[in-house]
Amino acid sequence: MKNVSIAIDGPSGAGKSTLARALAREKGYLYVDTGAIYRTIGLSARRAGADPKDEAAVLALLPDTHVELRYGDDGLQHMLLNGEDVSQEIRLPEISLYASAVSAHPGVRAYLLDMQRELARTNSVVMDGRDIGTVVLPEADVKIFLTASAQERARRRCRELEQRGTPEPEETVLREIVQRDWDDTHRAAAPLRRAEDAVEVDTTQLDFQGSLDALLRVIGEKLK
Ligand code: C5P
Repeated sequence: MKNVSIAIDGPSGAGKSTLARALAREKGYLYVDTGAIYRTIGLSARRAGADPKDEAAVLALLPDTHVELRYGDDGLQHMLLNGEDVSQEIRLPEISLYASAVSAHPGVRAYLLDMQRELARTNSVVMDGRDIGTVVLPEADVKIFLTASAQERARRRCRELEQRGTPEPEETVLREIVQRDWDDTHRAAAPLRRAEDAVEVDTTQLDFQGSLDALLRVIGEKLK
């Protein structure tokens, strides 16, 4: 049977990862969090003391940066950097900015493209990111563009950080979200934008279950 691919793109904090993970569980597909891959490259740059905005410096690190995705017994995606599980460390807020900076370099994106496409070739996937529907999987069976207001996204991110035991003031989180939105939509390489054939779902007014139901409706409709 043909593998099915569901692409979910949108700005940070719109609920992509939580919803994509739940959808994957529901459908029995593999969940691929592509942001985690860019975060791992960002972490590698930080550890090396490289300026993440300096494309040449970041590209020079890639031959010695071995990034691997592994699915644990818990079914969760773990990121390995040169064999070390860095799944927790890549979630630190400062790594978000490193990830955003390294992801702007075309050389970095090209380096990671095959890895992402191969996962979708060999599995049915729910893949989330910024350019899945536009660049990575332009032939995806279902494309969803998930959004929410910046304020609501900041509130959600704060709650998440608090639960992780690394709280941050909402003002700081909102500022970072606005900055990342700008960076992600204005970069030359694979900017964040809605694919023409993507269905937009705004979750500002929806709770988790309401959002999941909305996505399942879109998917059911598309896969009919
Ligand atoms: O989704 P997450 O916030 O973990 O992504 C971290 C950063 O990686 C984003 O700010 C974005 O710049 C970048 N990214 C990307 N393309 C993707 C996924 C993430 O450029 N497909």
